[in-house]
Amino acid sequence: MVEVDLAGRDIVDPRVLTAMGLVPRHLFVDDTRVGQAYEDRALPIGRGQTISQPYIVAFTIQALSVAQGDRVLEVGTGSGYAAAVLAEMGAAVVTVERDPDLASTARSRLDALGYGQVEVIRGDGSMGRLDRAPFDAITVAAAAPSVPEPLVTQLRVGGRLVVPVGGRRSGQNLIRVVRTGEGTEVEDLLQVAFVPLVGQAGWSDSQIGPRRGALRRNHPR
Ligand code: SAH
Repeated sequence: MVEVDLAGRDIVDPRVLTAMGLVPRHLFVDDTRVGQAYEDRALPIGRGQTISQPYIVAFTIQALSVAQGDRVLEVGTGSGYAAAVLAEMGAAVVTVERDPDLASTARSRLDALGYGQVEVIRGDGSMGRLDRAPFDAITVAAAAPSVPEPLVTQLRVGGRLVVPVGGRRSGQNLIRVVRTGEGTEVEDLLQVAFVPLVGQAGWSDSQIGPRRGALRRNHPR
């Protein structure tokens, strides 16, 4: 996976490649998905959510220029995989997950794999975490209708935010915002497809509708 899907494309930061090689992705997916864990694709993790595609995790972390000791906020813990990669890079990671089941599974998994230093917080991360700010880098693993302003203000000067912005299910772009002394520099990086960011600075629950799993349960065939 690292050689073909990451180094074989445009992931060139050796620290990112090393960290991606060290985190056992098969321990972040369901038992039934272990055989697919090192394919370059997103996989379901329950609760209507997915573990991100390895290339997108690597691309995002490379775009964030994460240095040893950086304070990094992740919005959307999911499986905890990206948080583990960030921890391998020596970042001090705070990760926020709105789904209580996913947050608690990620917590246990990170503890079991030796990533106990990662702070997992259950809640809406779309407004950031003022009590943990400022951050050197912020990554958002779910797509917002527009750049969440509170996240920009929680960056230190020189800090980087990478966030997918666009439609609920499609038409999204990965955007990088760098906070400068004068304001911000905004750059369009890549077309992407993320699950929606649901929260105060994201989409509302009613705009998203029921999860697909929930739909199936409510309409048995
Ligand atoms: N980084 C994850 C990918 C998670 S998918 C991984 O490596 O596995 C995106 C996650 O964002 C989902 O788990 C979803 O529940 C969560 N999410 C959506 N809106 C959120 C919000 N406002 N605050 C925190 N988490 C949110």
